[in-house]
Amino acid sequence: MIQEVEIECPYCGANYVTTVDTSEGSHSTIEDCTVCCRPIELRIVCSPGAVEEVHIARA
Ligand SMILES: [Zn+2]
Repeated sequence: MIQEVEIECPYCGANYVTTVDTSEGSHSTIEDCTVCCRPIELRIVCSPGAVEEVHIARA
């Protein structure tokens, strides 16, 4: 149920791949950019096993 998604940091513009647990269903999470370490809010729209949309915002 773990899927990889590519996201773009809204602060520094870095692209990187992170993982999403789709077994939770649609949810929001906050994680730190791997490059600039600022917090990124991820709103995940998914069904179990498939990511449908990822919305990215400054947390
Ligand atoms: Zn960043």
